[in-house]
Amino acid sequence: MIHGSSVPVESASWQNLLASSITDPRVLLTRLQLDSSLLEGALAADREFALRVPEPYLQRMQPGDPNDPLLRQVLPLGEELNEQPGYVADPLGEQQSNTRPGIIHKYHGRLLLVVTAGCAINCRYCFRRHFPYADNNLSTAEWEQALDYIRQDSSINEVIYSGGDPLAANDRRLAWLTRQIADIPHIKRLRVHTRLPVVIPQRVTDELIDALCGTRLPVTMVLHCNHANEVDAQMLGAIARLRRANITLLNQAVLLRGVNDRLEAQIALSEALGDNGVLPYYLHLLDHVRGASHFHCSDSEGQQLIGQLLTRLPGYLVPRLVKEVAGELGKVPIHVDLVNP
Ligand SMILES: *Cc1c(COP(=O)(O)O)cnc(C)c1O
Ligand code: SF4
Repeated sequence: MIHGSSVPVESASWQNLLASSITDPRVLLTRLQLDSSLLEGALAADREFALRVPEPYLQRMQPGDPNDPLLRQVLPLGEELNEQPGYVADPLGEQQSNTRPGIIHKYHGRLLLVVTAGCAINCRYCFRRHFPYADNNLSTAEWEQALDYIRQDSSINEVIYSGGDPLAANDRRLAWLTRQIADIPHIKRLRVHTRLPVVIPQRVTDELIDALCGTRLPVTMVLHCNHANEVDAQMLGAIARLRRANITLLNQAVLLRGVNDRLEAQIALSEALGDNGVLPYYLHLLDHVRGASHFHCSDSEGQQLIGQLLTRLPGYLVPRLVKEVAGELGKVPIHVDLVNP
């Protein structure tokens, strides 16, 4: 059942699942039969960045396990409030690149569109936890300005829907936007960066696929899945629908202490996705965002891990280790040597 309603999850609409996400730390702890000693810290950290976890994601967690790798990604912890040197509100300087509403244009040829401010889930490590989202819900006039910006710069050949989570927008908005973008001759491809097919697989409907795939533009979707336990039957159903629509599927993950920082976890993630047609793209080193320092893994831990992975998996199942550095021309690749585990 969805929290606070009598609709079973399997037959709920994605809108319903999105609206009925769990946002009360008390409810989360009770549902997972977790110790109430976690509550005080959870309530304090929740005031800084709200808890938000959709029901289909919660159902993949192991009750009674405070170290569950999915729970760790969403549970607010008191330690988030400890200031750590070097961990800041806007580690990527995006508030400067975000000079026009709705647009982040940092790299050559690719432009990121903030389609909607909202997300279906609040990931504790998110570099956008302090992002001024409220300023990024565009009016019609602002949408026209953003589209004009793309029309006027013929060096841009790829538009990336981002957010927030762009699939939190409704299909009508996505269909309209995609048609506008497909009408711009220099745009050759469309990309969607989203975690929604992972956390609420019911989001992947025929209407969504029509909205994204109804134009001349080839579509690539970059999912954000961090752990093999996130890959359940519902998510595989969503992946199968996306593949039938000829959407190229990739995955980006974030290297997170206590979630996926072990070789076995990375192997399981790559295999669970790769065997179902989703190839790994990037493994991101954590951005040093205030409140996320407990997830930190050093560059050399990342290098060690990917160096080992390269000796265990085919090359196409090994993600590229990258980090975002403010002011750089693209994601910065981290050099990796082979390591015998
Ligand atoms: C990550 C990112 C992109 C896409 O980079 P790719 O290396 O092409 O995946 C584009 N714009 C911004 C602002 C980004 O952060
Ligand atoms: S879904 Fe993505 S953008 Fe949203 S909170 Fe999680 S990491 Fe951040």
